[in-house]
Amino acid sequence: MDGTAVTSPNKPPLDLLIAAPRGFCAGVDRAIRIVELSIEKYGAPVYVRHEIVHNRHVVDALRAKGAIFVEELDDVPDGVPVVFSAHGVPKAVPHKAAERGLDYIDATCPLVSKVHRQAERHVVAGRHILFIGHRGHPEVVGTLGQVPPGTMTLIETNEDAEALVPTDPDNLAFLTQTTLSVDDTAQVVATLKRRFPSIQGPRGEDICYATSNRQTAVKDIAEACDAMLVIGAPNSSNSVRLVEVALRAGIRAQLIESADNLDLAWLEGVRTLGISAGASAPELLVRELVGRLGEHFTVTEREMSGIVETMVFKLPRALEAA
Ligand code: SF4
Repeated sequence: MDGTAVTSPNKPPLDLLIAAPRGFCAGVDRAIRIVELSIEKYGAPVYVRHEIVHNRHVVDALRAKGAIFVEELDDVPDGVPVVFSAHGVPKAVPHKAAERGLDYIDATCPLVSKVHRQAERHVVAGRHILFIGHRGHPEVVGTLGQVPPGTMTLIETNEDAEALVPTDPDNLAFLTQTTLSVDDTAQVVATLKRRFPSIQGPRGEDICYATSNRQTAVKDIAEACDAMLVIGAPNSSNSVRLVEVALRAGIRAQLIESADNLDLAWLEGVRTLGISAGASAPELLVRELVGRLGEHFTVTEREMSGIVETMVFKLPRALEAA
């Protein structure tokens, strides 16, 4: 797509650098497919606890196919199937579903499930876990809910890591949310390792390949851009982190949900605009944005070359043949 230009003598020029990789990750692809296959297998409606992924466009499309989104299991009537979102759920949720005899399908991203299993192992080994993440995010709620109360402490900032006074400083482990800022997390992990040299944990952190690759892609093009637009939802952690990465590179950056939120005044003086999309934002939204920009500018579009992602996650066995 190098150098595609929609020319018009009346429109100001605008160079677009499109970050790569961007948009859907393997965990989001899988979660959406799980809802679609569940509707095929069980028939509509299929209930989904929490937005399957944090994107209104995706949620609306699945709703149109027969998904009903609710926040709590109590909102799911008896006798209907329920899907748990990609962010993961506390252990109490599948337990309660089983008690009620509900058919449930877990769309938790396998990379989040991996962190859950690590948490369990640390608890079995008698370690207290320091979990680096953002309070209230569904993934954090889900991970905290994997272990008994009192065995995991949430660390949100480097200041938290500095201030922590653990009961047993020689018996600690750390884990991280999958969608954090790579740079911020490295700082927190370094602080924990300096203060508690025997702390156990993953080699780097648990930030997933998709989060990390999208941040690198934004960093790579930020230098050449005057501003950056990131397509994603305000409650999408990895999307918000992409905006932060661009801001830290010293350029203006804005999160928008779709082309409908485009603010032309904000683009004043911008000659080169970077575009990226969070892991839950469909490519269609990027194309719509480029199209909308083309209505106001003579756009030259350059798709950057970046890491090629080949990750694919298996579907739950119950849906493989659906
Ligand atoms: Fe999984 Fe990462 Fe995608 Fe979240 S962003 S669904 S952890 S691959």
